[in-house]
Amino acid sequence: MRLEEHVAFSTAAALVALPWLKDEVWLPYVASILIDVDHYLEFVAARRSLSLREALRYLRTPHRQRGPLPKPLHQPLTLGALTALAALTRQRWLWLLLAGMVFHVSLDACNNYLVRRLQGQLQREAAGRCPLCAREVMRLELHARRPLRTLLARYRRANYVVLCPECHRLLHLQG
Ligand SMILES: [Zn+2]
Ligand SMILES: [Zn+2]
Repeated sequence: MRLEEHVAFSTAAALVALPWLKDEVWLPYVASILIDVDHYLEFVAARRSLSLREALRYLRTPHRQRGPLPKPLHQPLTLGALTALAALTRQRWLWLLLAGMVFHVSLDACNNYLVRRLQGQLQREAAGRCPLCAREVMRLELHARRPLRTLLARYRRANYVVLCPECHRLLHLQG
């Protein structure tokens, strides 16, 4: 999920949690957004640059190659270790930090699930055949017909086609 979408969701959640958490609300809020520093690190490793503006452009590239760097803060292992630490030390701020991170990772998981389901549906509809070259492939790739500016647009089937990897690559090269 994109950074601005995370900011929107986190802001909404923070407003809901505000009556309970009061002045502590900033901690899960900031954690739920700053966890995406992972993607910035991915950019720094891939491009050897620290420019924030370039990083945002890089992260918007459709189907960018994920670098070898795993997203350390998004990992279940990290979240598990933090949970253990929070349970051991009984630090309230750690639980709040964790809540923000888990919120973020859950949203990512939902988003991935929905996009994968969409891919599966379109793949079945196409009977595994690329509409451009008619080749039959194991896994057709999801390609957005138009820039998807809103979250709703992201989950609309009409905004996608599925293509074989080869046609998909050529389409992006042309385009
Ligand atoms: Zn094809
Ligand atoms: Zn594409």
